[in-house]
Amino acid sequence: AALYKIDGWGAPYFTVNSSGSISVRPYGADTLSHQEIDLVKVVKKASDPKSTGGLGLQLPLIVRFPDVLKNRLESLQSAFEYAVQSHCYEGHYQGVYPVKCNQDRFVVEDIVKFGAPFRFGLETGSKPELLLAMSCLCNGSPDALLVCNGFKDCEYISLALLARKLCLNTVIVLEQEEEVDLVIDISKKMGVRPVIGVRAKLRTKHSGHFGSTSGEKGKFGLTTTQILRVVKKLGVSGMLDCLQLLHFHIGSQIPSTALLADGVGEAAQIYCELVRLGACMKVIDIGGGLGIDYDGSKSANSDVSVGYTLQEYASAVVEAVRFVCTSKGIKHPVLCSESGRAIVSHHSILIFEAVSATSHETTPQVPSPGLQYFVESLTVEGRADYRNLYSAAIRGENETCLLFADKLKQRCVDQFKEGSLGIEQLAAVDGFCEFVSKAIGAYDPVHTYHINLSIFTSIPDFWAIGQLFPIVPIHRLDEKPVVKGILSDLTCDSDGKINKFIGGVSSLLLHQLEGNCGGRGYYLGMFLGGAYEQALGGFHNLFGGPSVVHVLQSDGLHSFAVTRAVPGQSSADVLRVMQHEPELMFETLKHRVEEFLPQDHDNGMTNASLANCLAQYFNNMPYLVATSSCCLTA
Ligand code: PLP
Repeated sequence: AALYKIDGWGAPYFTVNSSGSISVRPYGADTLSHQEIDLVKVVKKASDPKSTGGLGLQLPLIVRFPDVLKNRLESLQSAFEYAVQSHCYEGHYQGVYPVKCNQDRFVVEDIVKFGAPFRFGLETGSKPELLLAMSCLCNGSPDALLVCNGFKDCEYISLALLARKLCLNTVIVLEQEEEVDLVIDISKKMGVRPVIGVRAKLRTKHSGHFGSTSGEKGKFGLTTTQILRVVKKLGVSGMLDCLQLLHFHIGSQIPSTALLADGVGEAAQIYCELVRLGACMKVIDIGGGLGIDYDGSKSANSDVSVGYTLQEYASAVVEAVRFVCTSKGIKHPVLCSESGRAIVSHHSILIFEAVSATSHETTPQVPSPGLQYFVESLTVEGRADYRNLYSAAIRGENETCLLFADKLKQRCVDQFKEGSLGIEQLAAVDGFCEFVSKAIGAYDPVHTYHINLSIFTSIPDFWAIGQLFPIVPIHRLDEKPVVKGILSDLTCDSDGKINKFIGGVSSLLLHQLEGNCGGRGYYLGMFLGGAYEQALGGFHNLFGGPSVVHVLQSDGLHSFAVTRAVPGQSSADVLRVMQHEPELMFETLKHRVEEFLPQDHDNGMTNASLANCLAQYFNNMPYLVATSSCCLTA
């Protein structure tokens, strides 16, 4: 646990149990009874047809814990409630979940259900997101906010107004100045009094990776001049009372409460000015940005960590708004936040398998008469490098030794390219140089673990923006890992590898794979990836989404049940995404079988059984299967 810093990034949800596996504590720190679910047992249960309605799910697997989601929501709510009380704040906190972080139906439905007691709402950034939010909030609290952000056309605005007509507490947040004209016009035509918000482009700038949305040149929001023009237009149209919410978002992963308080303070000043100008302001919406400590370092100077707790975050917000509004004599507004990452990251774990491992290690060659013969076929310069290398090794000058080893290797490659060195001799020099670096203790092989996963589909932020997530074996944690490894995925793409891990290291200490050909059954987990990864993943090489299980605690300290099991996308599913028609493709191939193959085959197969196998290929997931389950060779 210490090696992988699990206590740092994992607390209070993930811990190592006495069998050396990772256990999940679904209720986090609130658990009095220390209920724990062993992740390896979850993998076993998910692959067991008896526990999954006959499905027997294949890896990669996303394991979702709705109870963790509930705990995150409740922790956020109680952090704000505590801050409101302790700062004598006169408004309340009422958050919304930005559905773009993970639009999965059950994630959104769970958030609406768990958040209903404290009026938790949803935030959307597009028309389909609005449609899903509208239907989900029909089962939520009637006071829950439905915040409509994003670029809007007349369809988006009409739909948001329809939502208001349907008594959903909808706010249209203006992101662009032109949107105000559409809102005024369409709301009049539809006979709906809208509730309007305005997104301010703050001067406060967040310097981290996610800060490009902030500052005067940020992509979104209205400048002060534009806000003033909007206020004027609404006033002229007799709709200034509709302006009720001020929104801003200075970027995800806000690193420190100092920066947060700075931004919130600036926004609170704008809020007070809008009140002074006659708007009927009620809510200040501070956007997202509540960060996650991915590496457990609690650092305010890193993109993968944050220097505050949930409680410190909530207190900084409450204090900053209270200070400004109290000094201006303005009624304390309702506080809304749009935390996505902080709500959904912990609840889902991606589990995948390392199927084989290779090292670039060759069999080191001890100097021998054969080597002497090889040395004689080198050029004069090559022989000089060899002699220099040899004498540096005898003198124990390690640096010089490595320098000449590199030189010698390069010279031999050049000679090989020219055609004056054979392949055996090239291999001999590699082995010899490796022998020397091992002998002087400078040899540090890194193994490549091949993982049954697509990084483009399942960890797209690593590929796209270098986002690091904790990746650790979920078992054998009572055994010392001795192999340095990087992870290489299934795609035919050199970017499909993970060679940077939390702590900034370029390899991960892993366990040796068991079994003859590497063996199966070494499971790794990618944690804290519940936000964004599923929503952003692509279809590179047509690898589709992983299987998903939902796991709930059942009676007993360590008992659990798989309450929902969904197989990952089949090959047919992903082909359909690219406009192929799997049914037609199957018919074409079946026809081809009948046309080209005899009725009976040498291996006892028939054309009908071949066609069945083909059908199975369409129905199976695109990921690797064990050799024994391949129907053409079974
Ligand atoms: N609100 C808006 C407008 C955003 O753009 C984002 C994401 O960048 C969020 C909320 C969610 O932010 P986070 O995941 O940091 O909570």
